[in-house]
Amino acid sequence: MTLINDFMSLIYPRHCEACGNSLFKHEAYICNYCKLNLPKSNYHKNSHNELIQTFGGRIPLENALSYYLFEKSGKVQKLLHAIKYQNQKELAQFIGELYGQDLLNGKALEEVDVIIPIPLHYKKLRARGFNQSEWFAKGIAKTLNKKLDVNSLERITETSTQTKKKKYQRWENVEGIFKVKESQALINQHVLIVDDVITTGATIEAAWEALKEIEGVKISVISIAFAARKLAV
Ligand SMILES: [Zn+2]
Repeated sequence: MTLINDFMSLIYPRHCEACGNSLFKHEAYICNYCKLNLPKSNYHKNSHNELIQTFGGRIPLENALSYYLFEKSGKVQKLLHAIKYQNQKELAQFIGELYGQDLLNGKALEEVDVIIPIPLHYKKLRARGFNQSEWFAKGIAKTLNKKLDVNSLERITETSTQTKKKKYQRWENVEGIFKVKESQALINQHVLIVDDVITTGATIEAAWEALKEIEGVKISVISIAFAARKLAV
């Protein structure tokens, strides 16, 4: 096995997706230095964290977590870019597993019943080939041994790119974009909604709009990175 690994790294030099340095044999995707030094939010240790405050009572959330804090032009952005634009879906799953390991040490998601990634519109899914939030969710579901549900929530509207729009326009843009296809199985369930990056929280709110009609449903959210307002400038 070691021989194969050595051989493979001769053909395909392996690099840390965050800093670009060569990886050692025992490292995968992210070097140990980056693992230790990337800006983690540690929101699972603080139930009054900045992310839950972003939703500020607009959505009654049980919990709101994000693994990393987003920094423009930083290493976290590099990771997200690699996932989304270099087809590194396994990196998203790997990050989900890393976060899952942290979460196993606390009780933040103990009561979650089912994990639902924010779905892509089918046209976008066809174009990209995978849903990055789903792969991150896979890593979390696997590590925490929770059920992953990729069928109940559907994206029914294709939204245009939102990055250049102002905040109030973004809110209008995401209203009514999701539909619950199968609500029966979600009655009285604690649902963990998974997104790749949370900025204004508009996408999460749109998903909540669709899910809140289900009797007895509770919602928590989790993302790879959170672009807190002061960091997102
Ligand atoms: Zn690194």
